[in-house]
Amino acid sequence: MINKLVIVGAGHAAGQAIASLKQQRFAGQIILVGKEPHLPYQRPPLSKKFLSDEISIDRLYLKPSKFYDDPQIKKYLDTNVTAIDRNKKKLQTNDGKEIYYDKLILATGSRIRRIDISGSNLNGVHYLRNIADVIKIKSEIDSKKNVVIIGAGYIGLEVAAIIRQLGHNVTVLEKADRVMSRVVSPQISDFFEIEHVKHGVDLRLSTNIIAFNGKDTIDNIEISSGEKIPADIVIVGVGIKPNIELAADTGLKVNNGIIVNNRCQTNDSDIYAIGDCTLHPSETYNRNIRLESVHNALEQAKIAVSNICGIKKIYSQVPWFWSDQYNLKLQIAGLSEGYDRTIIKGNISDRSFACLYFKDGQLIATDAINSATEFVISKSLIKSKKILDLDKLEDKKVNLKDFFN
Ligand code: FAD
Repeated sequence: MINKLVIVGAGHAAGQAIASLKQQRFAGQIILVGKEPHLPYQRPPLSKKFLSDEISIDRLYLKPSKFYDDPQIKKYLDTNVTAIDRNKKKLQTNDGKEIYYDKLILATGSRIRRIDISGSNLNGVHYLRNIADVIKIKSEIDSKKNVVIIGAGYIGLEVAAIIRQLGHNVTVLEKADRVMSRVVSPQISDFFEIEHVKHGVDLRLSTNIIAFNGKDTIDNIEISSGEKIPADIVIVGVGIKPNIELAADTGLKVNNGIIVNNRCQTNDSDIYAIGDCTLHPSETYNRNIRLESVHNALEQAKIAVSNICGIKKIYSQVPWFWSDQYNLKLQIAGLSEGYDRTIIKGNISDRSFACLYFKDGQLIATDAINSATEFVISKSLIKSKKILDLDKLEDKKVNLKDFFN
């Protein structure tokens, strides 16, 4: 009998874990401890419809607060877990609480990577990870003309699209020579670069930042060419780091993520980890991977809870992710790292097409733009690990679905 199940972190994965525990009719006490003052909420709208004010804060929460008003659930929000004593099965919090557990789920997610360049602490230089960050940005941005975004990854580009549509001057500064270079092919980068430029974004690639200039508040950014870009407000999106320190300090195995097996269990059988913070085995790619995606957070939560409740299940999912920029929906199935060939299906000029990534004849990933069918079929084909006749697939008259049976 598990009397006390404690979840550290109150993000997307934690929210799903509680929903799954209720579904499984878990009978013990559930204790949720989260550093932010909020009940579990979804982050994707933070750089999309919440930033543009198309949705209100209430729509961010995964469940209404009454869902958690249950004697079975105890919540400690605005509370940071500072240490885990695995011998005593006890957590320590920043405000002196001691919380005991029978089983523990670490759902500590990730945090933003900060930049450390002269002037990067000036007022007006922002990051975007949580509700508080967006509220702060929204409270300042109306009166600002020149917005500079650092980083042309998914989040930087989503923010650029929203802010440009709100009518501000937008400059994006990116160190690499193309956008989203870590995750998409050059064809996809080209396509998105053209779209952003068409919408009036001043996109500067291969650009390093020398300094953020201003007295107390940002005024301009000096870049590697010597030019000073006017900046009334800056939003930095240069990646994240997994929150693994709590796990590492208590001797759990970590390596760019808390290492878990395919049941989401750490090297301590009473401690599970789920979501952005995990490094987990991928059956599809035969290696350990760490993902920053809602789908992964939700599915790992379900698997951890099933196993805790005595139903043996393993995590075996093809990763997927999405990004919204202007009226483009980019849906990404799989991981393209290591591809040796790409094929484009559909017409780029129709703004509805897919870039398929192959390795040794197997489909390993797809970037589908306004092309939901290719996205859905790709997930199944990636999972199947089928070797495909790529020369046949190159034929414009042949569709991806012809390979699906
Ligand atoms: P998180 O949501 O990061 O939650 C972890 C929580 O744990 C945090 O609240 C943190 O403060 C708390 N915590 C950490 N340490 C402690 C501690 N010691 N004690 C107490 N609490 C602690 N994914 C997609 O698939 N599609 C998208 O379009 C997309 N867009 C995104 C846009 C933005 C702006 C951001 C920031 C993320 C986006 N993501 C997107 C990623 C997605 O939101 C994450 O993958 C998901 O939130 C991961 O959930 P999680 O529960 O693992 O972590």
